[in-house]
Amino acid sequence: MRNRIFFKLLLAFAVVIAAATVTLDFSIRRAWERSLRTEIERNLQQKTVLFANRVQSDRVHPLADIVGQEAQAAGARATVVDAKGNVLADSEAQASAMENHALRPEFVAALRGEIGSNMRESRTVGVPFLYVAAPIPGGAVRLAYPLSDIEAATAQVRRTLLLASAVAFCLALVLAAIAAETTARRLRRIVQFAGQVAEGDLSARIAETSGDEIGKMAGSLDKTARQLEANFAALQTSRRQLETLLNSMQDAVIAVGEDDRVQWANQSMNRLVPQRTRLSAPIVETVRDPDFLRAVRTANETRTVSTARALSLVPGRTFDVTAAPLPGGGSVAVLRDLTETERVEKTRRDFIANVSHELRTPLTSIQGYTETLLDSISEDGHTREFLEIIRKNAMRMSRLTEDLLALARVESGEHRFDIQPVLPGELLQEALLNFRERARSQGIELQVENIASQAVNADREAMYQIFSNLIDNALKYGGTGGKILLGSRPAEHGVEFFVRDFGPGIPSEHLPRLFERFYRVDKARSRESGGTGLGLAIAKHIVLAHGGTIRAESELNHGSTFYFQLPLATEPVLEPAASRPQV
Ligand code: ADP
Repeated sequence: MRNRIFFKLLLAFAVVIAAATVTLDFSIRRAWERSLRTEIERNLQQKTVLFANRVQSDRVHPLADIVGQEAQAAGARATVVDAKGNVLADSEAQASAMENHALRPEFVAALRGEIGSNMRESRTVGVPFLYVAAPIPGGAVRLAYPLSDIEAATAQVRRTLLLASAVAFCLALVLAAIAAETTARRLRRIVQFAGQVAEGDLSARIAETSGDEIGKMAGSLDKTARQLEANFAALQTSRRQLETLLNSMQDAVIAVGEDDRVQWANQSMNRLVPQRTRLSAPIVETVRDPDFLRAVRTANETRTVSTARALSLVPGRTFDVTAAPLPGGGSVAVLRDLTETERVEKTRRDFIANVSHELRTPLTSIQGYTETLLDSISEDGHTREFLEIIRKNAMRMSRLTEDLLALARVESGEHRFDIQPVLPGELLQEALLNFRERARSQGIELQVENIASQAVNADREAMYQIFSNLIDNALKYGGTGGKILLGSRPAEHGVEFFVRDFGPGIPSEHLPRLFERFYRVDKARSRESGGTGLGLAIAKHIVLAHGGTIRAESELNHGSTFYFQLPLATEPVLEPAASRPQV
């Protein structure tokens, strides 16, 4: 990692520096060489002009001496030609032996009266020269400067420049390496920080103080890490609080994932299963109760709350299971131990049943003896009146004990219902036959309105009991309406039956409590009409035992309607209706 960032940066720097050095070296050298050559050329021209002046003006020295002196002074080869190009004197060769120079380019220009220059290899000496010629009266003079000198000077310059470039390159490279290392170190700290955060260490910081882009990025990353750490800490705290809360609960709680594996369980749950819950293991390895597993699966699949009663989780104990879907998938199940509640409830029920049972015989005896006494007393008077009161109250107590016994039996589940598929129309007809005469005797019309044709699962005797209680109430409390309507209609999960009266109705605040035992809207009226306050409670428990529901609707001065719903029959009605005994 270290090498990669560092060497990449260094390589990039080196390429840039090299390109800059080469470009600079090349352009400076070219410019330098050009200016050097121009300088030498100008210099030579000046010397040539001076040489021409000397040849014109010096009448003292012979031409050969002048040529020799000028050649030495200029550091060049000096030549003088006449107007035809014949060499009159030369500093380095025998003039008479030299060929005609009239056609040499520099002399062509000079003999025309201009200053001429040319660069070429000398035929006489065989090395490259820079020739500059200037006109004189009756001829021309020329200075020839060997190019090897210029080349030597240029090479020197080139060497110097190259050395300078190399030094500059090395220096720049060292600086680039330092810059690359600094940047690489800063980037390495960011990479290290990212690694720490990825491993869950949210306290990691880069702590960059620089204000450049890397510094700004590091600052933003530090800020993000700080926020993450704070959020995570808050999350941990609330998670711990939740854990403590769940662990302090009496109820057992277990969370199950979509894959039916245990995600979490509280301490009560761990205490409940002897092998303790194993996280990430399939739930069936922890809890084997089929009802519990069904509730969890239903909550997982349908994403709705599902309830069940688990009887085989711990031998001899009953648990109420509520499984609710979790927002992210999976579900959470809460198990409430109902054993103690059920035991207390059973004790209560048993007590009531026992008391009712014990009261039955003495009450029958009181009733019997009262009736015997009434039969034997002929005269009217207080004795008969008192005996009547005793008989009436004994009858009331007897009804009460009978109702209490019936309720206890249905509530405890001891009563075995004979549930069969039956058509709603038949149940309604039976009710009509049984109560029509009684209603008529009170001036009330009993009518049936049946539109449900699907069979329901019901115990006929229990249905008789429900209709008896509801119609009895309708006659007692809603008879003023003059009409009672019985009926059935298809409902969402079965068939809904109803008993409707057109009496004074029930104030809405009483409706939710109507099915509680001993709940009466008008106590005096109920007692006076021989009510026990248990009729609706018995009806409710019978309907619940059938897997149905019961409710009441009422509008003041317009009457009340009692509805109860029964589940549809899963099998067809077998017995022909006509062969059934009439109740
Ligand atoms: P009870 O033996 O008193 O009739 P129920 O449990 O059958 O006991 O009914 C509870 C109470 O509900 C009654 O006391 C009465 O006040 C009220 N009630 C029941 N049915 C009707 C009705 N059809 N119209 C008005 N009130 C009713």
